[in-house]
Formats: sequence, C-alpha cells, structure tokens
Amino acid sequence: MTDGSAPLAVVTGAAGGIGRAVTAALTASGHRVLGVDVDPAGDPEAYASLVADVAVPEQVEQLFAGIRERYGLPTVLVNNAGIYHARAFLDYDPKTYAQVFDVNVGAAFFCTQAFARALISAGRPGTVVNVASISGQSGSPDAAYGASKGACIALTHSLGRALAEHRIRVNAVAPGLVDTPMAARIPARRRDDYRARIPVGRFGTPAEVAAAVAWLADPASSYVTATVVDVNGGLH
Ligand code: NAD
Repeated sequence: MTDGSAPLAVVTGAAGGIGRAVTAALTASGHRVLGVDVDPAGDPEAYASLVADVAVPEQVEQLFAGIRERYGLPTVLVNNAGIYHARAFLDYDPKTYAQVFDVNVGAAFFCTQAFARALISAGRPGTVVNVASISGQSGSPDAAYGASKGACIALTHSLGRALAEHRIRVNAVAPGLVDTPMAARIPARRRDDYRARIPVGRFGTPAEVAAAVAWLADPASSYVTATVVDVNGGLH
C-alpha cells in the first residue's frame, strides 16, 4: 500500500486486462494509481477508481480538475483505454469509425492536454505512456483500429517533441497480441494463424506490457522520449 505523498499516476482503461497489470506494476514501483474507466467495476488494485468516458473531452476536463482538487498533481499518465471491434473494412459505418478514433486517439490527445497543462502551470516534470499497438505499425484486419493506432504513434512522436521543453516525456508501447478480453474478440482461426507467426511462439501477457510501461514511466528512462517500445515477441 502506498502513502498519500507517493507520486500520483493516472491510468485510463484501468478495468481491462492491460490496465490492471499497469496498475499493479505502477503500485509496485511506489505510485498511487488512479484508475479511470467507463466500466464502473473499476480496478480493485487501484488507489482509487474513477468513472469517466475519456473519449468525451468535457468529461476529461472535469476528470482532471476533480483529480487535482481531491488527490493532487499527477506526474504519470498512461493512456491505455482502447476499443477494438474486429470489424471488416466494408462493414464500417461513419459512427463506429469516429468512435474508434475518439477512444484510441482523441482520449490520449485530450487527457495528455489536461495533464500537461496542469504540470506546466505548476512547473513540474512528468511522463506520458500511450498504449499503441503493432496494428499501428503494420496494419490490422480492422482498418479503423490499425489507422487509429498509427495515429496514436504519430501523436507520441509529435507530443514527445512538443513537450520536451517542459520536461514532459511522451512515449508509447506497441504490444503484439496480448491475452486479454480484447484479444478474445479476434476469431479463433485468425488467432492461431497469428500465433504461428510469432518468433517466441506465444502471445504476450498483460504483465509483460506493464513492465515496459513502468520502465517508460520511471526516471530510469529519463533520456527516452518521442519513441515507441515494441513488446511483440519479435514479430515486428
Ligand atoms: P480491454 O478491453 O481488456 O480493456 C480496455 C479497457 O478500456 C476496458 O476496461 C474498457 O472499459 C476501457 N475503455 C474503453 N473505452 C473507454 C472510454 N471511452 N473511457 C474510459 N475507458 C474506456 O483491452 P486491453 O487488451 O487491456 O487493451 C488495453 C490497450 O491495449 C488498448 O488501448 C488496446 O488497443 C491496446 N492493445 C491491446 C492488445 C491486445 O492484444 N490485447 C494489443 C495491442 C494493443
């Protein structure tokens, strides 16, 4: 258990598979983790669980104002909330496409903006880790998902450079297939084909992704910014 003076970290999508593992890893490295999710079940391992839809900029603004008032100034932000519909290109409609981008890119954009504004006005350093995907590097059978994760990677490069002068680092992890409820949405045959192509011969675990996130959130990676760490078993 961490005390009230421990550094504060915000993790979005905290009720999901990777989110829970990130909460556990950051708690183990001495953070108070505020887990944010649309799912009110939250994450029992978090210091506190907050309910918000981070794809809605007004909710993001309220969320960060409330955090500041109640808990203090977060110095770590993990933009992990994401959605995957496993939908074919020809079946996409504009509303679903926009929803994918609002969650997978828009949430990271506006959460980072609220997080950075508070740090800059306090003159404090901080670090952001975006959970992107190998789909943003080599594409996905769900084209909207792949495009949104590619945008998440470009956002990481852009913000890493833009915020460097304020001592705010921005990096991403790009996981391959990880055993979580999201991965269970991929049809079984496609999962088997995918596994056969992975050099280490298996899917990743949420803890393996979380370990990379924790390193990027830690001062041990102080000279690393605007970059992407691959966590994919050698696939890319
Ligand atoms: P998951 O479905 O287990 O968890 C995602 C969490 O995000 C859920 O708890 C969900 O409620 C939350 N969420 C979704 N939309 C939200 C919103 N608008 N506001 C707040 N919370 C919201 O999935 P996961 O596998 O743990 O995925 C976590 C991240 O990792 C995602 O960004 C995903 O794209 C990425 N990723 C996953 C894999 C994989 O194979 N599982 C691979 C590469 C990248």
